[in-house]
Amino acid sequence: HFASVEMTPGDPILGLTEAFVADPRPGKVNLGVGIYYDESGRIPVLRAVRQVEEALAKESLPRGYLPIDGLPAYTQATQKLVFGPESPLLAAGRVATSQTIGGSGALRVGAELLKKALPNAKVAISSPSWENHRVVFNAAGFEVVDYAYYDAATHGVNFPGMLADLNKLEPGTVVLLHACCHNPTGVDLSAEQWKQVVAVVKDRKLLPFIDMAYQGFDKGIDEDATAVRLFAASGIESFVVANSYSKSFSLYGERVGALSIVGATRDEALRVQSLVKRIIRSIYSSPATHGGALVAGVLNSAELRALWEQELTEMRERIHAMRAGMVEKLATHGASQFSFIQKQAGMFSYSGLNKAQVDRLREEHAIYAIGTGRICVAALNRNNLDNVVAAVAAVIR
Ligand code: PMP
Repeated sequence: HFASVEMTPGDPILGLTEAFVADPRPGKVNLGVGIYYDESGRIPVLRAVRQVEEALAKESLPRGYLPIDGLPAYTQATQKLVFGPESPLLAAGRVATSQTIGGSGALRVGAELLKKALPNAKVAISSPSWENHRVVFNAAGFEVVDYAYYDAATHGVNFPGMLADLNKLEPGTVVLLHACCHNPTGVDLSAEQWKQVVAVVKDRKLLPFIDMAYQGFDKGIDEDATAVRLFAASGIESFVVANSYSKSFSLYGERVGALSIVGATRDEALRVQSLVKRIIRSIYSSPATHGGALVAGVLNSAELRALWEQELTEMRERIHAMRAGMVEKLATHGASQFSFIQKQAGMFSYSGLNKAQVDRLREEHAIYAIGTGRICVAALNRNNLDNVVAAVAAVIR
């Protein structure tokens, strides 16, 4: 039956990790990952999460099914985090939120919903974008086009190009936007630029689909949600938000995310939610209990929420410190052209290193990065920073 199935190419990033694991050299560093590591090079278990986990273990609750759209304590807390507790949209009942299997699940379920609502629309993603954006929307049957975003010459946003491309899109086009901590470039819009994007989206009658996978990883919970808050205040009738707790709660494998659809009215939101539930039912039936209970347990306790915010701040500040440290140390090697790394946001940086330089980093220095030059700043720590900087300084010479 499967004789005609050909070998499908594997994910290049996962392939890189396999090569890293097999590398016997001591002092090797993997900057190819998409994970936050702590100062000791481990994926942290947040103290707030552990406290909920310990309480849950004592209770040993039965593992029944969750509702199709998830745990209400989780989806309600998510709405407040994403839209802000005082959001008029929430008060008006215009937001329909479902717990999903990670941010990826939110993107896919959202894509399936859009395919039913807007079967002929195209989807526009940033150039470049997280590789899976194209994969997910293609898989849901959409044609995916690019809009200008990254400017390699300035290591910043090509903002005039971005606006020009958005202005060329047909009404009804879905525009995928990264709320903050753009993956893979680390280059974000300012609040002022977001206002202009909102105006174009409104004027051109585009449908914004905001992907927020790193809320709290750059400036803070509310600041990092600026894009969501501006769209919410814009008077635009409908938009979509996919959010993920993988990074902000360090719960990668628990697959915790959510899909929020803003409808024009409460009634529209209810109708959309009924369709979202039908879609989820046809894919995985209902989300997973454990991760949802962990996030809900933290967000719904004033004490644990405060602890989590403190831990989130620690993660964010460590990333900023690594960016600053890298820039400062590279400058002492005479490489002052990397100052842009400090202006970028989140876990990733488009370092400007080319493929040949990335190959040399791996072959000569056991430092693994992606061929595009994307590095994970959150994999740096005080033990590996000097080595990484010295290696970078060597390969750019
Ligand atoms: N969107 C972006 C931009 C991401 O970087 C990621 C995770 N790498 C996701 C969505 C998906 O997150 P999750 O792991 O929760 O599925």
